Amino acid sequence: MAIRRSAAKRQGLPTVVQLRLAPTSAQADALATAVQVCNQAAAYISRLAWQQRTFPVLDLHRLAYHQARAHVGGLGAQAAVRAIARVAGAYANRRASRKRAHIFRPHGAVPYDARLMSWNRDARTVSLWTPAGRMHVSYTGREEDLKALDTLPIGEADLICRKGVWLLQVTVTVPKPAVREPVSGFLGVDQGVVNLAVTSDGAVLPGPALPGPIHGNGHVGALRERRYRQRRRLQKKGTSAARRVLRRLSGREHRMMTDVNHQISKYAVREAERTGRGVALEDLQGIRSRVRAHRLQRRTLHSWAFAQQIAFTRYKAARAGIAFTLVDPAYTSQACPECGWTSRANRPARGRFACIRCGLAGHADHTAARNIAQRGVAGWAAVNQPHATGLPSARRARESKPPASAGGS
Ligand SMILES: [Zn+2]
Repeated sequence: MAIRRSAAKRQGLPTVVQLRLAPTSAQADALATAVQVCNQAAAYISRLAWQQRTFPVLDLHRLAYHQARAHVGGLGAQAAVRAIARVAGAYANRRASRKRAHIFRPHGAVPYDARLMSWNRDARTVSLWTPAGRMHVSYTGREEDLKALDTLPIGEADLICRKGVWLLQVTVTVPKPAVREPVSGFLGVDQGVVNLAVTSDGAVLPGPALPGPIHGNGHVGALRERRYRQRRRLQKKGTSAARRVLRRLSGREHRMMTDVNHQISKYAVREAERTGRGVALEDLQGIRSRVRAHRLQRRTLHSWAFAQQIAFTRYKAARAGIAFTLVDPAYTSQACPECGWTSRANRPARGRFACIRCGLAGHADHTAARNIAQRGVAGWAAVNQPHATGLPSARRARESKPPASAGGS
């Protein structure tokens, strides 16, 4: 009883494990047909949805279910339902995507839900729907992934064929550990543009402290700058070949930033765990508006990178049972973490902080990170000990001055 209650309260964290399927050649043919049929159905329903401007799942079901089954040979009832949900989801996620019909590639990953697949975990086989009937396919995987699959609740899965290898990427729900009280306060992380991130302890990330392919943030900065120039050159050209290179570039940059964000969030959470603290980051809305002020820096800014950093850190903190909080970003770069004096005059030069009242001086991003850490403590206390005295400093700042206005992208 007690266990059930606490599990329901804490929920879980979705995690993806990858299984390698071992289909017989007949099964592989059936799986290939299933992928083809499901993607063909999604593409067909997507065109219908877009032509008729019909996006909500129930309306789309009414519009497309019978037509899709009549038009796409071998499409079962459940597969049709799943395809409709998939199309509705594709249009629901981004309003911008409604400007043109969403494309479903013929060999793209196909989602399977509980109605299209069933598991025999003892025999290590999974039964998958295909137009030729259910296929009981055996699977293998890494030891820890198989263990996770044996013990955790299983959600949806993506069926995908990569270079002739059949893979099933399965979502399992990992129980969330209880969040430990941040007895030693918070580690503040300032997401900058010049330095990608600086902690309230003064660590500059990514730096030599982080393992992995990137050593020192100078490398990342230089790479971004080079990409920026390359992109400008290609944009001027504007030919279709140039546009193709551009797409590939942004993909590569995307992957690099994702890697950096994984490293930073991993470091921050591990450091907080080691020192009995929580992790505090600035709320995204404010970062955008604050950074917008710097025209020179803006060009290298990807607001998605900030959003991704927040998502990664939040997830890793939850997985480790570490407190995580977002703080009001107003004036984190102008406030003095020692005496509280907040003024534009505290910033004598770009990258420098020097308090005109108490004389505290240092790296501007480090000072901002210290403010973030302090606001993390105050914000956490306000939420988790609502009877604690005093307003959190973030709220005080918001009440005394209007927050920097945000909007656009
Ligand atoms: Zn001061």
